[in-house]
Amino acid sequence: MTTYTVINPATEKPVEDVHEATVEETDAYVERAHAAFPAWRAVPPGERAALLRRFAAVVDAHVEELAEIEVRNAGHTWGNATWEAGNVRDCLNYYSAAPERLFGRQIPVAGGIDVTFHEPLGVVAVIVPWNFPMPILGWGMAPALAAGNCVVVKPAELTPLTAIRIGELAREAGLPDGVLTIIPGKGSVVGERFVTHALVRKVAFTGSTEVGKRIMRGCADQVKRCTLELGGKSANVVFADADLRAAAGAAPYAVFDNAGQDCCARSRILVERSAYDEFLGLLQEAVQGMRVLDPADRASEMGPLISAQQRDVVQGYVDEVEVAFTGPAPDGPGYWVPPTVVLAESTEQRIWREEVFGPVVAVLPFDDEADAIAMANDTEYGLSGSIFTGDVGKALRVARGIEAGNLSVNSNSAVRYWTPFGGYKQSGLGRELGPDAPNAFTEEKNVFIAH
Ligand code: NAD
Repeated sequence: MTTYTVINPATEKPVEDVHEATVEETDAYVERAHAAFPAWRAVPPGERAALLRRFAAVVDAHVEELAEIEVRNAGHTWGNATWEAGNVRDCLNYYSAAPERLFGRQIPVAGGIDVTFHEPLGVVAVIVPWNFPMPILGWGMAPALAAGNCVVVKPAELTPLTAIRIGELAREAGLPDGVLTIIPGKGSVVGERFVTHALVRKVAFTGSTEVGKRIMRGCADQVKRCTLELGGKSANVVFADADLRAAAGAAPYAVFDNAGQDCCARSRILVERSAYDEFLGLLQEAVQGMRVLDPADRASEMGPLISAQQRDVVQGYVDEVEVAFTGPAPDGPGYWVPPTVVLAESTEQRIWREEVFGPVVAVLPFDDEADAIAMANDTEYGLSGSIFTGDVGKALRVARGIEAGNLSVNSNSAVRYWTPFGGYKQSGLGRELGPDAPNAFTEEKNVFIAH
């Protein structure tokens, strides 16, 4: 029996041993989910809705416990971890309204009537990365269950604990056996098996672009549905007419939140040349004022990186450039890298082009609106971005010009469970969240009935 020892990234101490499923165990769980599907899809819409609301209520009663687990397992700050557990509850509540609203259409035809149905796919798999273990589980699981699918989940090797607990809470809430199954294990074993197993009808994957491409290639064999939520190298575009203090105050949290291990991290800051020096001064003030503390400390705004390996990868990027300034970081144990600001020398540097996935941001000036859009788009990614300006027209032009799925104006925030989320270009395929997410876990059937 193979086990994985979960490590607390803030203390480097072991937390718990978790069994890693084999291919044979994965097959047995998938078959059990398949066996549970006919009864689950037949649960009347109102009853399925009530079960999801009960699941949400049980999660709500355990928000503090889940947050406490995530602080220990992933090094997330207490504030983030409680938000994340609450996000699972909110997603379940939001999509609990979907079973009764899974509308088809009636389309005018000659000689009869034509109606469409949204039918569940069967067993769907959700593969979760380590950076946001709870929200990404919720974003896949909630709409998939609401649409009548049975769900198998593979949490990331490094961060399985909250998913395991949420699986137990689902049973406590009364979800039938086999409807939601959490299967901890390796990506190369459990994750791969989701791709190759014929009874798994869709894979909702969030993770690196490299693994995402491999999954898409694998799914092609069975023309298996897949959605991909992948990497990013998002731009934060600051115009000279913006409230510079507000823009500089917000920028650190747009990239250093979750220690930069965020697919939406605005890890490139583009500043209009005439405001460049003033913005940098304000940014330095904001970065140096960040509270980088033990994540269990309720005042902490940034915790450690997830692992020694991730810290070394991030440090590798930092070592090859000149650092302009950094924020604080604790001494002692834990995989810490301080919030780090680099003034890029060219758009060809690795620090400007590659997803660092750590608390490092690169800054460059731009000359005008067209230049800003071109620089923002000069990347294979297209996940998110921010635009700071006092001119609404300019904000809209730039928002329409940037090739990315999620943009925010004079704000960092882009991800809400009730608005669609996903990437352009190599940041992904398909959309999650928002009102249409349940449809992405269905096939649309068309039926014509002759008069
Ligand atoms: P990763 O691709 O290494 O792993 C993600 C998940 O895939 C893990 O559960 C892993 O075990 C599994 N996996 C690995 N190899 C597999 C295989 N061959 N077949 C099936 N599954 C496999 O990514 P990571 O390092 O855990 O996460 C970081 C990445 O995720 C970053 O690139 C980040 O940008 C991205 N991400 C994207 C979003 C988004 O919504 N777009 C959100 C969060 C993270």
